This record gives sequence, C-alpha cells and structure tokens, in this order.
Amino acid sequence: MSEPLFRAEPYARETEAEIVEASPGRLVLDVALFYPRGGGQPGDRGEVVGAGGGVAITDTVYDVDRKTILLVPAEGAALPSPGSRVTARLDWPTRYARMRAHTALHLLSVALPFPVTGGSVGEAEGRLDFDSGETAFERAEIEAELTRLVATDAAVTTRWITDAELEANPGLVKTMKVKPPMGSGRVRLVEIAGLDLQPCGGTHVAKLSEIGRIEVTGIEKKGKQNRRVRIKLSEDI
Ligand SMILES: [Zn+2]
Repeated sequence: MSEPLFRAEPYARETEAEIVEASPGRLVLDVALFYPRGGGQPGDRGEVVGAGGGVAITDTVYDVDRKTILLVPAEGAALPSPGSRVTARLDWPTRYARMRAHTALHLLSVALPFPVTGGSVGEAEGRLDFDSGETAFERAEIEAELTRLVATDAAVTTRWITDAELEANPGLVKTMKVKPPMGSGRVRLVEIAGLDLQPCGGTHVAKLSEIGRIEVTGIEKKGKQNRRVRIKLSEDI
C-alpha cells in the first residue's frame, strides 16, 4: 500500500478522489488526505464535494481493522455514490494549527527531557505529561528555551527505517527519546535537524519558524511523579 497523502504531503489541502464506500456515518475514499485520529492528534475535518453537492466531514477515524480510514459525514447528509469522483478538501486552518502545535510538542519534549506519559494536540495548543519526579518546572525558563529552539528554524523531515536497519544502528535508538515499536517491519522517524529524533506518525510543519511564539499556559501536578505542561501558540506567525 502506498503512503497516505497526509504523510507524504502534509501540506496538501485538497485532492481529487473516488468514493470507495458510502453508508450512514461512513465515507471511504481511495486517497488518504484526511488524518485519522491517533497519537494524541484529532481527526481532520473538511468537506467532500461531488456532482450532487458538498458533504461536511466532522471527524476522521480508523475503522476497527485499524487500516481503513473513515471520514465521518455530518449527520443526515446526502452522500455521494460509490464509484463517483469527488473533491476532498481539508479544513486547512484547523489542520495547520494542529501541525504547528504537534511540532511544538516535539520541542517541548526537547526542552523537558523526561519520559512522556501522555499528550494531546489541539488547535494551536497542546499538552504533554512528563514523568519528572520531584523536578520543579519554571514557566519562564521553559518558554525561553522553546523560543530559542524555534529561532533555530531547523528543518523537520521524516524517513522510514526498517527494523533490521534499526537493529544494525543501536546508536540511533540511543538518540531517540521514545523507543520505536518493532515488529511491523518498518518505523517512521521524525527528525528535527540537530534537536530531536523520534518515531511519530502525525503531521508536522516543515520548518520551526512556522510554529511562531510558544507560550506556556499551565504547569499542573498530576499525581506524585507527573507534571502536565500546557502550551499555546500565538495566532500570528
Ligand atoms: Zn510528531
């Protein structure tokens, strides 16, 4: 199976596609433009426009087989017929805000080098939970470090590596904060040049300057060992 469009071209906003399946609550296309909910990142929204008009897409999820991507149409909408050609279009401002926030969370994990126990990506905001023990977090210090990292304007790139290549390069695993899942044959790595390398399946911006200013909006205690750190991005870049 070829790589989904949301991974191969995260800046693609629309595409021509064919309807593979259409039934109440489920729309399947032959091109994967919409990101399905996963890894803390919400499913894409947008619209699918066919000869008979447009259908609003309110969410995107994986089917129970964990492979088929389901676009969730607005309730009661008239759906295009299987086999028909459509234009699929993302709610781009929302997707782009999530790409910026998702990439900013990678930087947060660089600024705070502790094991990450959870996280969530929102629109131009997000949070990570850290297993940081008794370490005290200083909001101003974290913000200053995030500002410094964004100012490097490092490139964000992705590459695939096979399990065998990974095993042959133990140094690679050492540079990664999250141990990649083995067994599926290959792993997708996201690299922020000189700063970060980790397995990730989400959507990211291409350069750190696209993130803009990051504000730390909250540091909460989550149990004895955990701290939750919330960030928010400025609207203008
Ligand atoms: Zn990521």
